[in-house]
Amino acid sequence: MIETDILIIGAGPAGLFTVFEAGLLKMRCHIIDALPQMGGQLSELYPKKPIFDIPGFPSVLAGELIDNLYEQIKQFEPGFTFNETAIHLLKLEENLFEVITDKGTKHRAKAVIIAGGLGSFEPKKPPIENISDFEERGVSYFIKRPEDYTGKHIVIAGGGDSALDWTIHLAEIASSVTLIHRRNEFRGALDSVEKVKKLKQDGKINLITPAEVVAVEGENHLTKIFIEKEGTIQAIETDYFIPLFGLVPKLGPLADWGLELEKNAIKVDNSTDFQTNIPGVYAVGDINTYPYKMKLILCGFHEAAIACQSIYQRLNPNKKFVLKYTTVSGIEGFDGTKKQAEKQVVATID
Ligand SMILES: Cc1cc2nc3c(=O)[nH]c(=O)nc-3n(C[C@H](O)[C@H](O)[C@H](O)COP(=O)(O)OP(=O)(O)OC[C@H]3O[C@@H](n4cnc5c(N)ncnc54)[C@H](O)[C@@H]3O)c2cc1C
Repeated sequence: MIETDILIIGAGPAGLFTVFEAGLLKMRCHIIDALPQMGGQLSELYPKKPIFDIPGFPSVLAGELIDNLYEQIKQFEPGFTFNETAIHLLKLEENLFEVITDKGTKHRAKAVIIAGGLGSFEPKKPPIENISDFEERGVSYFIKRPEDYTGKHIVIAGGGDSALDWTIHLAEIASSVTLIHRRNEFRGALDSVEKVKKLKQDGKINLITPAEVVAVEGENHLTKIFIEKEGTIQAIETDYFIPLFGLVPKLGPLADWGLELEKNAIKVDNSTDFQTNIPGVYAVGDINTYPYKMKLILCGFHEAAIACQSIYQRLNPNKKFVLKYTTVSGIEGFDGTKKQAEKQVVATID
């Protein structure tokens, strides 16, 4: 059982910044994410793209923004549960919620902030009839632990950044890597395309285009895939088949939590504090909706700050609202660190 003050569902930018705003008010946070890493859409969909509308950053790479957000929150020692999807939300009593994940992990918190973005991402799967028989037994749609592929034969399918990046990475540790794409052209960062070209020229990977994987075979574990290339079928022996065709967002289990929904998003009260129709449960970032909602990172940051103030008021009804400027009060991390602007003194200079 994991216990905390605020349980955050979603480790995208809105969820991460929530930890900072909660930390300023001395509330601890734990974050659950279905993906193996933090960053939400920024890490999963466009880590190497520059973003131009983050206040104070004329340009910042999406992956860099996530690194900076972690750097900013780590003093508040957030807990993380990665690779698990929150599937049940129960209100046990006033100011006590329980959230259970698909792996059975129980989390208890005084308040819940849903920062689930576009919902939990689900992989696009190739239309191969028996592919589900081999999921987690040779077929994977995410690479959670690259070291598992050391010394193995791998087939990767896809034509985007993920397929290119993992081909480059696994080429160093796998026994063989074959990259298959249904077109001759790849859509990815120029640098990655160049690296894959070089790996092929150096004989370090096999590249098969235009081709598609049409069947998979094995007993308890995958042993072979079949590809169709220009009308002929060819078999390739392999230990792993990793189709990287992108992810589709699905609201998923959140849709059954009794939350008021509108157009696949959670309705919140933006005139006050971004609370949902369940008191004590808030929604911030892309997952919420209200009049004039804009699905932008900076809007998620603002919503997180207001939601944390509201939770502080709920949990401390007799305390006065305090707006703390970090320039004035500094920051005290839960890890014992302290950051503060130099103190002013009143002194006579003779
Ligand atoms: C290509 C592209 C370019 C973009 N460019 C810009 C830009 O220039 N500027 C800008 O402001 N915005 C941009 N955006 C939008 C921006 O990425 C989103 O506004 C932002 O990611 C929203 O952050 P979030 O934290 O609300 O959600 P997300 O980043 O979507 O993160 C949500 C997280 O919640 C997790 N999750 C969901 N449901 C569950 C569950 N039940 N259990 C566990 N985990 C769950 C997901 O796995 C995900 O990691 C862009 C988006 C895309 C796709």
